[in-house]
Amino acid sequence: MLAAFRRWRRDRVLAANALPDALWDDALDALPFLDDYAPEELDRLRNLVVLFLHAKSIVGAQGHEVTALQRVVIAVQACVLVLNLDLALYEGWHNIVVYPGEFVPGWQWEDDAGVVHTNDEPMAGEAMLRGPVILSWPDVAASADWESAGMNLVIHEFAHKLDMLGGEADGCPPLGGRTTVAEWKKAMAVAYTDFSARVDRDEDTAIDPYAAESPGEFFAVLSEVFFAEPELLIAQYPAVYAQFVAFYRQDPAARRSGA
Ligand SMILES: [Zn+2]
Repeated sequence: MLAAFRRWRRDRVLAANALPDALWDDALDALPFLDDYAPEELDRLRNLVVLFLHAKSIVGAQGHEVTALQRVVIAVQACVLVLNLDLALYEGWHNIVVYPGEFVPGWQWEDDAGVVHTNDEPMAGEAMLRGPVILSWPDVAASADWESAGMNLVIHEFAHKLDMLGGEADGCPPLGGRTTVAEWKKAMAVAYTDFSARVDRDEDTAIDPYAAESPGEFFAVLSEVFFAEPELLIAQYPAVYAQFVAFYRQDPAARRSGA
């Protein structure tokens, strides 16, 4: 009965909030990595985007005006992560705040010695535990072209959101029984140790060295690579790639090769 009600409500939201074709086509044009997606996947993605936009507020800050296309471009990339999972994984918070450029978070924390620090490093994005996702629009826009940017800000922050379903982002999101914690942690720890050593040696890494910052950042950065440049992750950390295929229930490299 509850499932039937949910379906009815979902269908009503979809019918009342359909995206205009031209807007959807513009969003697909802006995100070349979606070229690989099958029509059936794009149809499901489009429905998820409608439901996502209905559930979330995407608001501008510091005078930034969020356009209809920007909303869809952000929502599409957020929904890519849960295409074969459940949009309910993004429940429990409401806002996405978009800045006209990098922003200074200004939050404070106290170290073990009781000294209070203020974070005044400009950031491109941030995902707050049980709170908003904050994005710099120019960094979202640059992310569309992996070849030149080598990053995907929206995928990064929403990977943190999945990770935070288990508390602070620690690189081990709730796995939903799709793989085991032991297998996940083993693959991630081996790769993280290797990658951190390469960064420590000042090696030129094809993967953003920011991934060495912490296991939580490692998971978020590698999720960007998984979706936007899957062959790179297979080449460097195949065991992590296999874990991500199980976790996200997607195989972006197979999709790209038309398998
Ligand atoms: Zn991060």
